[in-house]
Amino acid sequence: MSNTISSRLVVLGSGPAGYTAAIYAARAGMAPIVIQGIQPGGQLTTTTDVENYPGFRDVIQGPWLMEEMQAQAEHVGTKVVWDHITSVDLSHRPFRLTGDSGTSYFADALVIATGAQAKWLGLPSEEHMKGRGASACATCDGFFYRGKKVAVIGGGNTAVEEALYLTNHSHDVTLIHRRDSLRAEKILQDRLFANEKIKVVWDSEVVNFVGGGTPEALVGLDIRNRNSGEISRVDVEGAFVAIGHKPATELFADQLELDEDGYLKVDLGSTRTTIPGVFACGDVMDKIYRQAVTAAGTGCMAALDAEKFLAAQEYEAMAAE
Ligand code: FAD
Ligand code: NAP
Repeated sequence: MSNTISSRLVVLGSGPAGYTAAIYAARAGMAPIVIQGIQPGGQLTTTTDVENYPGFRDVIQGPWLMEEMQAQAEHVGTKVVWDHITSVDLSHRPFRLTGDSGTSYFADALVIATGAQAKWLGLPSEEHMKGRGASACATCDGFFYRGKKVAVIGGGNTAVEEALYLTNHSHDVTLIHRRDSLRAEKILQDRLFANEKIKVVWDSEVVNFVGGGTPEALVGLDIRNRNSGEISRVDVEGAFVAIGHKPATELFADQLELDEDGYLKVDLGSTRTTIPGVFACGDVMDKIYRQAVTAAGTGCMAALDAEKFLAAQEYEAMAAE
């Protein structure tokens, strides 16, 4: 049976941006609804140690931090629902969102905090080996490769953190990077280079995920040296692709303006999108900083922008009566 839920403010997404928007909106009396999506808590639920979120002297865990954010949002009056939104109609207010559950959500204002998702290399062999040794989340799947040789592909913070994390399970971790220097922060690079369980293969790209055995499982990666063109085999049973993320904006592509990389465009210094009453925050509109704390910061901005928008609408409606 289809169901209808109406709210002054719907927050789409339950990462640091969405929950922070909800905390501010709830405290401003907007009684927001947060729609969690298929990844409740967002990207930080795929990691372990978080050392750079302010307020915690000791290392905290990503999933724990997100549970605390949800609890805080609910405590101040947010309704959190599990649903995955499959279509949106932003052509008139109230905006309409339709979920997998069959529920239609109507919102006077909308905060989009749908974040970003892991990118894959796009090789057919990679697709074939997903679940058979190819993964995009070491913290989720690393445990399955304890005592085995593994590789991480990429050169950013995620790749380096995943390589370091995997040394908890494996004595032999190979980081494969397409250039001759890493993009990751220096402190992470220092830890990586100091770790004897990790070796780095530079200037190389993966060209094939190699399967073998019955049932079939990953036995290696074929890599090509980008300088010499030489192809060689790295024997690994787990390969973790950590080459960045793509913003979750497909839902809005024909309704809101996106930039050349698919991120939602907002007015400079605000979270206003190209449709009045629709605001965007977090990784879905930020391709530069992409941190939990910046996502939370823009989540706060989105709630304040939405509050101002709704107050102006309500004042105009009253004045017209
Ligand atoms: P996300 O966390 O991506 O959340 C997006 C939310 O939107 C999810 O809840 C999802 O379910 C929901 N959603 C998407 N589409 C739909 C839909 N159609 N319907 C309903 N809901 C939807 N940052 C740090 O500051 N410190 C760190 O130590 C750190 N470590 C990291 C480790 C890893 C492995 C990764 C991948 C990232 C890390 N980051 C770290 C970056 C940080 O996690 C992100 O910047 C942050 O989570 C972005 O928050 P967000 O709220 O914008 O989006
Ligand atoms: P990223 O910073 O965009 O790095 C992606 C890496 O993958 C780059 O090294 C890139 O190579 C490589 N790459 C991209 N496409 C590739 C391809 N097709 N084939 C091979 N290699 C490819 O992504 P990220 O590491 O996931 O980090 C995302 C954001 O989250 C960043 O802002 C990061 O700071 C943040 N984050 C922070 C922390 C932390 O603060 N502790 C931890 C994790 C993530 P090039 O270098 O050649 O471009």
